[in-house]
Amino acid sequence: MEIYKDALEEIKKIEGKIAERIITSPQGAEIVVNKRPVLNFSANNYLGLCNHPKVKEEATKIMSSHGFGMGSVRFICGTQDIHKKLEKELAIWTGMEDSILFSSCFDANGGIFECLLSDKDAIISDQLNHASIIDGMRLCKAKKFVYKHMDMEELKKALEKAENCRIRLIVTDAVFSMDGDLAPLPEIVKLAKHYNALLMIDEAHSTAVLGKRGRGLTEHYGLIGQVDIISSTLGKALGGGTGGFIAAKNEIVDLLRVKARPYLFSNSVSPPIVGGTFGALKLLRESNQLVSKLHSNIKRFRGKMADAGYKLLGNPCCAICPVLLGEGKFASEIAEELLKEKIYVIAFSFPVVAKGKARIRIQISAGHSYDQIDHCVEAFKRIGKAKGILKPKKNL
Ligand SMILES: *Cc1c(COP(=O)(O)O)cnc(C)c1O
Repeated sequence: MEIYKDALEEIKKIEGKIAERIITSPQGAEIVVNKRPVLNFSANNYLGLCNHPKVKEEATKIMSSHGFGMGSVRFICGTQDIHKKLEKELAIWTGMEDSILFSSCFDANGGIFECLLSDKDAIISDQLNHASIIDGMRLCKAKKFVYKHMDMEELKKALEKAENCRIRLIVTDAVFSMDGDLAPLPEIVKLAKHYNALLMIDEAHSTAVLGKRGRGLTEHYGLIGQVDIISSTLGKALGGGTGGFIAAKNEIVDLLRVKARPYLFSNSVSPPIVGGTFGALKLLRESNQLVSKLHSNIKRFRGKMADAGYKLLGNPCCAICPVLLGEGKFASEIAEELLKEKIYVIAFSFPVVAKGKARIRIQISAGHSYDQIDHCVEAFKRIGKAKGILKPKKNL
């Protein structure tokens, strides 16, 4: 056991303490941590649906009619009418022919490549893609090409190198969660067409976030139906339960149903989760109010932070707003100070992000009020001045 103790010490030395903070309230804009109410700016709860009455109502309704669990994988006796209905709804929502549910998006990404690609094929992946994509790639025998983050020249070169392969599959996160930037989808779609490659995007951080109706990066760029495969999660903006899905053409979805190992060998998504997701999708279909509230919150936060003199990374319309702070220790200190001001945030440092680029990642939600956003900005300003990050502005 000394081996594991040493390994743990080694990780702690590099990454600092990794204690989980215990929350005793539902997930939301305000949560209770250590008996103290704090404002939460660290959740993927982009639309504030984790504890939304309509989502809970639908989850409860389905739990009454269809029970709590399935106790089976889909193909044995784990498929209910509601699973089929949700798969149809998600397909329509994403503008694809069909979709297939998984226990998580991690499983969806973990299982897909092995099904679709052989050693005659190539997979071409952005360097900063999510861990689940990287693991999925490890499990398949295709030739692997990794291009520099969002570098279209390198992507093009990889496509040329893979020209003799049977299938070329480009895969990219839609929103990159550490930098809050968007994959340049129009350019990638063009390259995919030109080189006759399949294109898969992972919309985990953009589903129910980007696009006027929240249909994702494809809607944001007016490219619904222009990608071949979408993977995404039910565990972030769509209510934050668990579960993931892949949406694609019929033949791809059908193949995954008989071949994807996490689908064949892991339990069905539980009925209340399916119900809650119906509730989330219904809210999104009925109105774009939540999505537009999210985006006015993002604009307010990013605008006020820039005015205060902070450097924020990422795309202006991204709900992930990384505040760049430099050294890891310093970023952690600022996070501690923010917690004293009732702002719950997490600092990210090396090796999660590059050395010297430690940051606090703020995640904005439609569930935040303007007052809560402003409180966060004011706390950043006070701490920034006290710590000498923000130089007092010259009077004009
Ligand atoms: C969160 C995330 C996942 C994993 O989603 P789960 O449903 O929680 O497993 C996969 N890909 C990306 C890009 C993510 O951000």
